[in-house]
Amino acid sequence: MWIELDGWMAKLRFSACHLIPHHLKCGRLHGHTYAVNVRVHGRRSGEFIIDFELLKEMVAQICSRLDHHVIIAENDPRLSIRKDGDGVVIDIGEKTYRLPIDDIAFIPTDSTSAESLCMYVAGELARMIETSDHSVSRLEVRIDEGIGQGAGCTLDLDDGVSL
Ligand SMILES: [Zn+2]
Repeated sequence: MWIELDGWMAKLRFSACHLIPHHLKCGRLHGHTYAVNVRVHGRRSGEFIIDFELLKEMVAQICSRLDHHVIIAENDPRLSIRKDGDGVVIDIGEKTYRLPIDDIAFIPTDSTSAESLCMYVAGELARMIETSDHSVSRLEVRIDEGIGQGAGCTLDLDDGVSL
């Protein structure tokens, strides 16, 4: 069986800036409100697969790290990133941005596309679930980039672990 969180309805959202280097439209710094939708599959251990409140808290923690930040993919080969005093200089070919370090949320991906954000969030959530009392065997995450478009991925976890 499975349980599910709707990011829009459960307020598991974040607003953030990003860009897709060299993309005609998305190459300019711009923002979205994202919602994180989660479905977890597993067997019940006692009453729950995982407590809704615990799962919501985990997703909310991930959202809060990204919320109101400029998201930068630190492994994007199209970017040249260097520290400069209290700021970060990001060269993207013909463009250069200088941003305060506190405004940036670096993620260990090669892009900030919805697909990459989804894999990042799913990985973070899997790590959090694996250190909790749960019986989750599969995790599905869908990141909506605004209403009406999103990217999803599925991760299989080791058999649920009861701590
Ligand atoms: Zn965008």
